[in-house]
Amino acid sequence: MGKRIVIALGGNALGNNLPEQMTAVRQTAKAIVDLIQEGHEVILSHGNGPQVGMIQKAMQELTRSDPEKYIPCPLSVCVAMSQGYIGYDLQNALREELLDRDIQKGVATVLTQVEVDRSDPAFQSPTKPIGAFMTKEEADRMVAERGYTVMEDAGRGYRRVVASPKPKSIVEIQSIRDMAAAGLVVVACGGGGIPVYATQGHHLKGAPAVIDKDFASCVLAQQVQADTLIILTAVEKVAINFGKPDQKWLDTLTPEEAEVYMGQGHFAPGSMLPKVQAAVEFARSAPGRSALITLLEKAKDGVAGKTGTVIRQ
Ligand code: ADP
Ligand code: MG
Repeated sequence: MGKRIVIALGGNALGNNLPEQMTAVRQTAKAIVDLIQEGHEVILSHGNGPQVGMIQKAMQELTRSDPEKYIPCPLSVCVAMSQGYIGYDLQNALREELLDRDIQKGVATVLTQVEVDRSDPAFQSPTKPIGAFMTKEEADRMVAERGYTVMEDAGRGYRRVVASPKPKSIVEIQSIRDMAAAGLVVVACGGGGIPVYATQGHHLKGAPAVIDKDFASCVLAQQVQADTLIILTAVEKVAINFGKPDQKWLDTLTPEEAEVYMGQGHFAPGSMLPKVQAAVEFARSAPGRSALITLLEKAKDGVAGKTGTVIRQ
């Protein structure tokens, strides 16, 4: 029976640069259309690390080279640009794969704003490095002129660090639901969504932050009443003692077991930890819901219960 599935695509589904992305999305489209062909309803989200970094760097160079003409581009605008660019490639690849298989289905990308809490403690301690490396002098100037927070990054120079607040709600959620209900394959919440917070009246203001795509996908999956949240990444399964001689791959995890393992530090912060946290939150959000973490190429087998790590109560 067809399920409603939210699929969060990781970095390996999109590659690290323009030509890589164009090639990667073809494989990604195949994996997704396999699920559509089996009768599942798919809503996609994706990461944007390399893409938003590239866009941010380009915008920064423009401002640096001609400060009279270009004013600094807010990070929220860079995220919006990355959603447009990635959505463009995904839409095209999905369209082609669907047509090649004689499936009549539209694909649409929703530029998605995600509301964050202005008082989220993450704003007090930015941790996520973004954009180009800077010298000490450049970094000091950015702090003075633009109020950036900068940090020395592993001996490679200075980088701007931004906050990674938790996603609260998806502004365009009703449009996403309507488009899915109309039978479209929807791409939404790219890069975790454009971070915004409410100010006066109905005005939403872009926040200098990046939202974790795994957390945003968890909110998306809950708000579209998905049956399953699939997080596609660069490993087939989640492991304990990852990378150690006693490494053990996990087939299933209950939220309680996951919590024990999280407490023991088995999942790396910034990579596997947010995925397991998102999976646990989704599995707990309503009876019958489950999450799956696996490789892009194994999505179909994972949905069939043959591989991946399934998180359910
Ligand atoms: P994505 O772009 O899909 O979000 P990440 O690099 O952020 O990918 O996270 C996936 C990576 O997490 C894997 O490639 C793996 O190297 C790493 N990882 C860290 N801890 C674990 C673990 N306990 N089990 C499996 N993978 C882990
Ligand atoms: Mg990641």
